[in-house]
Amino acid sequence: MGSYFKEEIETLPRDELDIVVDERIRYTVKYAYENSPFYRKWFDKTDVSPFDVREHEDLRELPIISGGVIREKQPPETDEFEFKSTSWENVFTIHETSGTSGVPKSFFLTWNDWKIYAEKYARAFVSQNFGSGDRVVVCASYGMNVGANTMTLAAQKIGMTIIPEGKCTFPVRIIKNYKPTAIVGSVFKLLRLARRMESQGSKPPESSIQRLIAGGESFSEESRSYLEEVWDVPVYNTYGSTEGTMCGECIKKAGLHVPEDLVHLDIYNPQLENFVNDGDCGRIVLTTLLPSGNKTGNLLINYDTDDTTAVVTRDKCKCGRTHMRILNPQRESETLWVGGFPFNRVDVEQGVFHRDNMDYLTGEYEAFLYGDEDETTLRIRMECEDPENCDQDMVENNFIKTFLKYKPGLQQAHIDGTFNMLFDFTESEALEFYRIKGRPKRLVDRR
Ligand SMILES: [Zn+2]
Repeated sequence: MGSYFKEEIETLPRDELDIVVDERIRYTVKYAYENSPFYRKWFDKTDVSPFDVREHEDLRELPIISGGVIREKQPPETDEFEFKSTSWENVFTIHETSGTSGVPKSFFLTWNDWKIYAEKYARAFVSQNFGSGDRVVVCASYGMNVGANTMTLAAQKIGMTIIPEGKCTFPVRIIKNYKPTAIVGSVFKLLRLARRMESQGSKPPESSIQRLIAGGESFSEESRSYLEEVWDVPVYNTYGSTEGTMCGECIKKAGLHVPEDLVHLDIYNPQLENFVNDGDCGRIVLTTLLPSGNKTGNLLINYDTDDTTAVVTRDKCKCGRTHMRILNPQRESETLWVGGFPFNRVDVEQGVFHRDNMDYLTGEYEAFLYGDEDETTLRIRMECEDPENCDQDMVENNFIKTFLKYKPGLQQAHIDGTFNMLFDFTESEALEFYRIKGRPKRLVDRR
């Protein structure tokens, strides 16, 4: 048991929590009908009435909203932003998120939305033992994305100090001078920061840092535990998005808690037709939950996040929280298929970060898939501290063993010779993604 940001709601018994969720779903759907041009039009042209949606199962009556739908319902495609659900006077900030297509989706937040986003982050921070006196370097971007800004507001609610760097390339003196207790960043940026500190003669485990928050992209358990080893502190996962997910791991690290009273997650099958059972992997489809009487700037019901996960459990956690926990989400766009069998970028990462490999590798990698229907080759390129003295056979064997472990289909294809793996060991900064601007694309389909 630890402390809570809002104990009563975070520890609400399951049956009472389910009642809150269904109440808020009813209010949210009614609000959507009354305030969102998209939902008003949709209800008016179908037989479904907003009052037919009584509980979360009824959300299946409503359409699933992909990023593409949002782009089709905003200028220049339409005259107005059809998902904007309040008047301009109530809009506090405007955001844009770019998906894989690169066309930004517009997003509108009221001040009340800000407070709710901040509360979700505050709950996660407190569940990770943050409190007054903590000093946190935020390496997430302060641009049109909403995460870094609302984390900063969360800090104010808890009494923490924020050092708003916005990226992980800040000078090492920031750590020496201000003695921060935590850093929010991505796994790879936190690993790079550790290498930079070491090259300047300071050892990460001897720094003031007591915990790290990894977010912004999915990662494997192997890379997390390596990051924990490098810094000698716990690393907690936070999964957030402009659309308002914000789930966080508590100190028990047994799945990410979903703030169920504020955001409703359904896990759908790949065809997006029905929910999957708890424990089964599926697509995360999210619905903002509005407390009765609240207004929101942008309302999404059944929003397809393009991410996949599984519900770990809806039972009470050892931390005392009753809100459900999900597995570390993965990006659907980072899943590739070979001869009918899928693998994700995270599976590749798992093979790279095999503990014994890390005596030689930096962890930086990229992988390319080549081939045709008859034969496919995955080329894995890994950065080495010193390629000349790297035990390449061992690294390759560890990779193949780990990567194929739970993939019988790919394993068979590998034995049959229709799925091959090739390895390159590069010196520092010789990987291709270093020469391309923006977020590194670590798994590229070149078929
Ligand atoms: Zn917990």
